[in-house]
Amino acid sequence: MPKPNHCQSCIGHSWGNDFTRVTGENRVPLLLVGESSGRSEAKKGEPFVGAAGQVLEKAIRMSGLSRSDYSISNLLRCSPPSNELLGTPYEFEALAHCRKYLNETVAERRPSVILALGQLPLRELSKAHVGQDLRGYFLPSIYEGVSVIGTYHPSRILRGDWHLFGVLCHDLRVASRAAQRGLPQPIPTQYNLRPTTDDLSDWLERVRSQSSAVSYDLETAELLIKNPPEPRRIIQMQFSSAVGEAVVVGEQQFDFAREVFLLSSTKYDYNGRLFDRPVLRAAGFDLNGEYHDVMEMYAHTQSGFVSNKDDAHGDKGVPSRLMSLQSCLSFWYPTFRPWKSVKFPQWSIGEPLPLPVRLYGARDSDATIRCALKLRESLTRIDLWDGYYTFKHQLGKVLDDLSEHGLPVDRQRQNEVRIYIGEQQAELQGRIQSLVPDELKPFKAFKSWPRDLREAVKASGQWKPKTKPLEYEVEAFGYARRNGVLIKPLPFNLNSSRQLLAYISHMGYRIPLHLETDRPTTGKNEIEQLVAETDDAVLKLTQRVRKLTKLGGTYCGGDWIPGDDGRVHGEFRFGTASGQTSCSRPNIQQYPEHYDAKDEWVADIMKRVKGCIKAEESHIFAKIDYRAAHARCQGHLAEDENYYRLADTDIHSYTTAHYVGVPDKDTLLELDDESLRKRLREIKKQYEYDRNYKLKRILYLMQFTGGAEKAFQILSAGFVSVIEVQQLMDMIKGLFPKTFIDFPANVEKQLKQQPWLVSQYKHRRFFWDGDLQQATSFLPSNCFHAHAQSALLRLQEQGAFAVYGACNWAHDSLWLHCREELVDEGIAAVKTEFEKPSDVLVNSLGPFWCHADAMKGYSMDKMVEV
Ligand code: URA
Repeated sequence: MPKPNHCQSCIGHSWGNDFTRVTGENRVPLLLVGESSGRSEAKKGEPFVGAAGQVLEKAIRMSGLSRSDYSISNLLRCSPPSNELLGTPYEFEALAHCRKYLNETVAERRPSVILALGQLPLRELSKAHVGQDLRGYFLPSIYEGVSVIGTYHPSRILRGDWHLFGVLCHDLRVASRAAQRGLPQPIPTQYNLRPTTDDLSDWLERVRSQSSAVSYDLETAELLIKNPPEPRRIIQMQFSSAVGEAVVVGEQQFDFAREVFLLSSTKYDYNGRLFDRPVLRAAGFDLNGEYHDVMEMYAHTQSGFVSNKDDAHGDKGVPSRLMSLQSCLSFWYPTFRPWKSVKFPQWSIGEPLPLPVRLYGARDSDATIRCALKLRESLTRIDLWDGYYTFKHQLGKVLDDLSEHGLPVDRQRQNEVRIYIGEQQAELQGRIQSLVPDELKPFKAFKSWPRDLREAVKASGQWKPKTKPLEYEVEAFGYARRNGVLIKPLPFNLNSSRQLLAYISHMGYRIPLHLETDRPTTGKNEIEQLVAETDDAVLKLTQRVRKLTKLGGTYCGGDWIPGDDGRVHGEFRFGTASGQTSCSRPNIQQYPEHYDAKDEWVADIMKRVKGCIKAEESHIFAKIDYRAAHARCQGHLAEDENYYRLADTDIHSYTTAHYVGVPDKDTLLELDDESLRKRLREIKKQYEYDRNYKLKRILYLMQFTGGAEKAFQILSAGFVSVIEVQQLMDMIKGLFPKTFIDFPANVEKQLKQQPWLVSQYKHRRFFWDGDLQQATSFLPSNCFHAHAQSALLRLQEQGAFAVYGACNWAHDSLWLHCREELVDEGIAAVKTEFEKPSDVLVNSLGPFWCHADAMKGYSMDKMVEV
């Protein structure tokens, strides 16, 4: 479609001739507005017909309608030169110019609701101030009588955020329903922002007599002051006992709060397990009754919301926007007014709290009770409440106990290791500097005397007034001359991707490209691959320096520095969709567990780092590990007797036997368990390299990652090509067709009926993108984690955690830190629970169970098998 005359005066007139029309027959008075056309749209003259359009179409189909039912357009009706809007000022000029067409569309088609696809359309079309990443709420639009609601742009979903697809579908459904039937009626609110003592007594009396559930929230000084002297000082608390109700109290009325926390009624908080409750306890409040964390309820219903890219907790334990209370509330109350981006007036400690803070607090606790009641109802309706209750609510307490015990770290050793790492780093850096040609090193150029040179020259006694620096032998002072210019050579910086790429290019090596983006990269895997190809000394040293930086920075500093009690206390979270726990500040689940046998130097450093985790006097560590837990669970779920059996014996040596073609490879399974174990041990010894660096790694990736190409990218060094990886994968599939062919086929069949899976342990996960590999690994992962977590729950119930000093849960291993005389007893107690058959996972192979192995030692670098 050619550009109309009005476009002639637009800054974007020269961008091309394309102009998209508004599509749809407007059967539903909903207008979908995107940003601007891309190439496909420009070609066809219609909005959303390219890749993002496919995603949108899929979402529309899932809401039971077709795209012709709605009206669809863009803020900008042509395509910008970069094929997408980049936020430049001239684009805003074009957007303003193009508004005329949108105004005409609204006047002609009279939508009652606009669905803004992405932040830019929402900002442009809403009258209200829009905070970052706001979606799911009806806001007044710039058009009289028309509401606008924001959602994710389909292309964001295409960029790998498929977990947002369900949210797009939801927002579309809500917008569509409102366009047809009108906006849902908001529930009137009744907030008591300045309660009297009598109000508070009445409130308590009512809650007590009706045993109402109560939501609460607290505000600390950080809300109002940037760097308060006491960051966790509670300045305000708010409580709700019903939807639309809230009472807000300041510090003078905290006696009321004290009484509320002592009530036996159920309490709800948002992110309370890790924030509000520890803060309350530290401030001397006693907590009574059952406390539920609504964020954990939310995460359990929507486990797929949490992906690597959208970590549930962000960097500092702050929930990401999708996992925020405001986002959670939008799913049930899209007409509630978003309240999280309000700006507060200046305030200092001791002053009365401003009204907006009180209102904000009231909205927080009101939102919490609303979400709690809705989530409880829906978790019960979809039969996931038990899963939440066991694997979030109860398990949370277990994890808090681990955290409270803490992991002992020897500060003196840690200091020594830090110094040692620093020395090693300096030495490596020196070697790198001598190997890199000078012309590749960066430099600083000077037009006049740099102060340190002038002083050095003066100190040397050579100073001659009015003489230019280049007339001296500047090299003697660490300077140089290049093309008549005074320069100071700087050291080669291997953390600079640009400098490293310049080195690679100078050496005539292949420029490593990122597999997905195709851009030059100096990522870990790519450099590993290049080292395998070139054996280059600088690149090898770079790898070592990077490793040192990581080890030194991670394990010898920051959160790993123990507190006054000589321990570190990680915070355990439920961040993943598989039910695996995560940990932060510090992440004690991750430490350099395996010495890298390929590189003795790395192994030595890791050993030193591990040695910092040292038992306290007259104490000892024990570590009880599930053996090949994921593989064994996968074999059980696939009802694959051979895989299930071999996972417990040594599946890697078995696949190695087939890879290298040992003569008895086809009769191995006829051996009894003892003989099989013995024979596989021999194979392991003989073909250790193939077993550890090829078969073991491939199998691991087949469990979690899938495709040969991705596996090759991850494994890189050690494999010749993607074809080799593919051949190995095919061989393993042929050996275990039930696990690697039938089981995925069954999962695929289930996903054809609905886009989610529910595990036997009542966890649900959505799979919108048809990623079969991810879906296939969900059930074994989740079932194994839940099986192991059930053992933790039993152990804690028996009191074993306290007696034997449970101090870490690292996915499939429990660590004890106990008195020496108790260690064997502790190991036996844990092994008994770990190896108990499941009463949930039962099939033709009988109940699932898994061996556990134990180790003990006085520090983590000296653990010996028991
Ligand atoms: N992205 C948009 O915002 N609009 C389109 O029409 C296509 C992609």
